[in-house]
Amino acid sequence: RATPMAQLIGKQQARQFYKPRQAFDHKGTYGHALIVSGSYGKIGAAVLSAKAAFKVGAGLVTAFVPECGYDIIQTAVPEAMTITDKEDDLITDIAYDITPSAIGVGMGIGKAKKTVAALETLFKKAKAPMVIDADALNCISEHKKLLEAVPKHAIVTPHPGELKRLIGEWADDYDKLEKAKAFSKKHEVVLLIKGAHTAIIFDDNLYINTTGNPGMATAGSGDALSGMLTGLLSQGYDPLLSAIFGVYLHGTAGAIASQKMGYEAVMASNIIDNIGAAYMSLF
Ligand code: AMP
Ligand code: MG
Repeated sequence: RATPMAQLIGKQQARQFYKPRQAFDHKGTYGHALIVSGSYGKIGAAVLSAKAAFKVGAGLVTAFVPECGYDIIQTAVPEAMTITDKEDDLITDIAYDITPSAIGVGMGIGKAKKTVAALETLFKKAKAPMVIDADALNCISEHKKLLEAVPKHAIVTPHPGELKRLIGEWADDYDKLEKAKAFSKKHEVVLLIKGAHTAIIFDDNLYINTTGNPGMATAGSGDALSGMLTGLLSQGYDPLLSAIFGVYLHGTAGAIASQKMGYEAVMASNIIDNIGAAYMSLF
């Protein structure tokens, strides 16, 4: 059985992808990231993703959250704009009057019927490149219609549990890769399989990230990643590059946080706080 040749993602690769800022750039140059996230008790997912989108360099960030998230976002991330759903606890109708350059969706949104319907509309109508994470993936696993509406070239970011729900059980690592590849091909998505060595699958290619450590095994770590990926897309990195560069930076930020404070103490906010240091470590 032929295993696809894996390409490792390290500093040499990441450096080549980095697009330096130019002196006369302005916030419009770096796009507008829309983070669709949160439900009652899980607005923190939106806070983390929105912050991470800023820290990776998005020019503008808008958080779309249920009404109950309004004060939280405006207080925790004053740089972000906030649009609220008409419902208090859940996302049920993703209506907005902005033109996002990238959309990150799913973190902490739950799986309510109304949320699934709102996702389907978003998938069909949205024109911006998209990151699909967390509960949005769980909704996709449970609703075939939603799976069929997934936009082409979306970045799909399951952790192992979410992956299992998406592609079914696998017998061994080889089988897992084959099933993942088939999924990525069939739906034309960049499939990013999170874990100790995050794998990215697209178009017959397999990339393996080399950064990160067990300090990153903590709540909200994935929400930070999806915010980062959305922020990279918003700056014009294409989906595959965003995925590759994003996981590299995320792992590097986690490694720097771990060196400073010890694995056990790292929280997702600390990963986000070190995104700048991760960029600076490239050169
Ligand atoms: P989530 O489960 O959605 O919060 O995502 C967890 C994030 O942390 C992913 O980006 C994983 O790649 C990363 N992560 C979790 N555990 C480890 C580990 N042991 N080593 C490196 N990265 C990890
Ligand atoms: Mg997650």
